[in-house]
Amino acid sequence: MTAVVTFNASHRNAMKLPGKPRSRTAAFLPLCLFFMKVLHPGHSHLYNNRYAGDKVIRLIPKSEEEAYALKKIYHQLKVDLWQPSSISYVTEGTVTDVHIPQNASRALLVFLQQASIQYNILIEDLQKALEKGSSLQTQRNRRSAPGYNYEVYHSLEEIQSWMHHLNKTHSGLIHMFSIGKSYEGRSLFVLKLGRRSRAYKRAVWIDCGIHAREWISPAFCQWFVKEALLTYRSDPAMRKMLNHLYFYIMPVFNVDGYHFSWTNDRFWRKTRSRNSRFRCRGVDANRNWKVKWCDEGASMYPCDDTYCGPFPESEPEVRAVANFLRKHRKHIRAYLSFHAYAQMLLYPYSYKYATIPNFSCVESAAYKAVNALRSVYGVQYRYGPASSTLYVSSGSSMDWAYKNGIPYAFAFELRDTGHFGFLLPEMLIKPTCTETMMAVKNITMHLLKKRH
Ligand SMILES: [Zn+2]
Repeated sequence: MTAVVTFNASHRNAMKLPGKPRSRTAAFLPLCLFFMKVLHPGHSHLYNNRYAGDKVIRLIPKSEEEAYALKKIYHQLKVDLWQPSSISYVTEGTVTDVHIPQNASRALLVFLQQASIQYNILIEDLQKALEKGSSLQTQRNRRSAPGYNYEVYHSLEEIQSWMHHLNKTHSGLIHMFSIGKSYEGRSLFVLKLGRRSRAYKRAVWIDCGIHAREWISPAFCQWFVKEALLTYRSDPAMRKMLNHLYFYIMPVFNVDGYHFSWTNDRFWRKTRSRNSRFRCRGVDANRNWKVKWCDEGASMYPCDDTYCGPFPESEPEVRAVANFLRKHRKHIRAYLSFHAYAQMLLYPYSYKYATIPNFSCVESAAYKAVNALRSVYGVQYRYGPASSTLYVSSGSSMDWAYKNGIPYAFAFELRDTGHFGFLLPEMLIKPTCTETMMAVKNITMHLLKKRH
């Protein structure tokens, strides 16, 4: 910007601006815009080209020594772990996907070669992958087409106006309300979906986008609403679901983080709250719940991606949802939370290796859901208790929901298994959501068969 201003100043006489400008800024604005265009011909890079040359590498430590060495260098290089979510989970045999900035990748590759640790490069140039996989730059045209496009990723603003629109046009089945405000003051909107009835109805809670960078998750919540409205009349199963149940759907839980992942850092995970003593911002909204809070699998360091926060429910987003669930826990029978990526269907416990009291009911629901999902395109999901299937993590929303009396609590880890990771291309939104829809309908129908 400085360069542009200087350039303008030295040329103001040569340009002979007509009339007497009221202010310098106003007079030079058109010029600024003109030179901005000249200085940036053709296309501009997304996110200011900040991921140019960055790599995503997969490593599977073959021994505890290798795991230890990796942990150490990850710490030193301040890498962005994609999988697992925290360095503390890196152990022998763990699939580790790591995003390394360009300036650190040489150091890491040299280290790996010297230590003869095998690795695979998943993404050679993250900036290129991001721009290739996304149609953000050309999306404007597709967006202005009639109707809402469910096969592209949408910004928070677009999702919120979509919700407002549905609330107006489908008032028979949809009621939108806000359960509070985010740290940065954005409304936390929820859609109540289902045929209105005076009779007592049980409910299912669905949230998407607890973690900002997992864009396929909010895309699924939107897809679910679309399918429900579209098939309510034609599909007896959907009609039954909407007639006998309410769905509370929160398409974007972590609104501030999601917005930030569109404007500043595509790979942001946490909320955006400030810390009084550290420069790092944000709390992991899936470690901030009052269930074995800040124990194993959560970090007490504000700069870590799994930071549990200064106290349970410190994040206004978490507090708002927890308050809502506490208030409605008597009729909410299922809690479903959507994440990415790993292709897993997880149920409690997350914080300990133990069997839940209603294990057989939950396990059979999961087994059937995973089979229904696979029947569409053959995509395999692993399923089981989160602690033994993924890793131990304390303070999660799923465990909290279960502990607060919601008998069916699940967390989905959607596609893929690391080929695209968080950059799942838009062309895979439709297949991913179609198969996931089968699993969700399956779990819901299972619920309807139960009397209580
Ligand atoms: Zn997640």
